[in-house]
Amino acid sequence: MKQVKLLIGLFVLSGLITACGGTAAPAASQKLNVVSTVSPITNIIYNVGGDRINLTGIIPEGSDSHTFEPAPSDAKILAQADVIFVNGLKLEEPTVKLAEANKKASAEIVQLGEQTITPDQYIYDFSFPKENGSPNPHLWMNPMNALRYAEIARDTLVKRDAANADYYNKNYAAFKARIEALDQAIKDAIASIPEANRKLLTYHDSFAYFAPRYGMTVIGAIQPSDFAEPSAKEVAALIQQVKDEKVPAIFGSEVFPSPVLDQIAKEAGAVYVDTLRDDDLPGQPGDANHSYLGIMRDDVATMTKALGGNPALIANFDTANVPGLDKTVQQQQ
Ligand SMILES: [Zn+2]
Repeated sequence: MKQVKLLIGLFVLSGLITACGGTAAPAASQKLNVVSTVSPITNIIYNVGGDRINLTGIIPEGSDSHTFEPAPSDAKILAQADVIFVNGLKLEEPTVKLAEANKKASAEIVQLGEQTITPDQYIYDFSFPKENGSPNPHLWMNPMNALRYAEIARDTLVKRDAANADYYNKNYAAFKARIEALDQAIKDAIASIPEANRKLLTYHDSFAYFAPRYGMTVIGAIQPSDFAEPSAKEVAALIQQVKDEKVPAIFGSEVFPSPVLDQIAKEAGAVYVDTLRDDDLPGQPGDANHSYLGIMRDDVATMTKALGGNPALIANFDTANVPGLDKTVQQQQ
């Protein structure tokens, strides 16, 4: 009699499991709506959430995130969000304001930077001077900070969507291993640069948190805090500095083309390399290298080559996303 009851119980249970669709991912309508801002942060979240979340990045890739003003259509996207991840440290203030005004009562805004470093670790510099009150926000350019962003994303997704906790935990563990391998590859590549050349003069100052980890020195940035062009006096001082420090190359970014950099390089006898990036993923959405790991690999290979090191130490690093190609991500372009 007991056995019969047990059998009936098992049938009922298996019927229930079938009816619920087993342990498969929830239907599309039940997925968390997650909104992010710049593409490297969107990509870090994708590496944890994969296709179990609906993920939208609202700052168009390759645009200037520092001056970005969200459009009215972004208010609709923010209004539907369950979780809104922002870098914070005042990078996306207009977007945060719009999110606060439009978000659902149950939605939360997660400021990643503020949960990654403490105020005494904030870096202020030429482009982000202390008197303006906004620290340099480019935390993600240090892979250890990117890993912390992924950890916060994992904890948030697990809390909001416990049914997929195993998936988020597994992706995070795989991403952590990738970041640790990236960190080692960067250390090896930078160590191959002659010590006297481990200096960065960039247009847009994105490497403030990257440089100290890898024994590099940021000797200057060209873009003033008002995002205009530097004055003639500042340009002359930079030319003298490049000559004095004997740096073989100076760096620009595709997002901020600048004729001033070209001029400084020519007059100081340095090479001008204009392909560094900090919030524009390489390739196109759906490409294998369209990833945060791709930004870091390409930047380090570029600076290693230009400063006299061996770029082969990082050039073949696998930049693929943990959950596969990012075809489901709505990163605005
Ligand atoms: Zn930037």
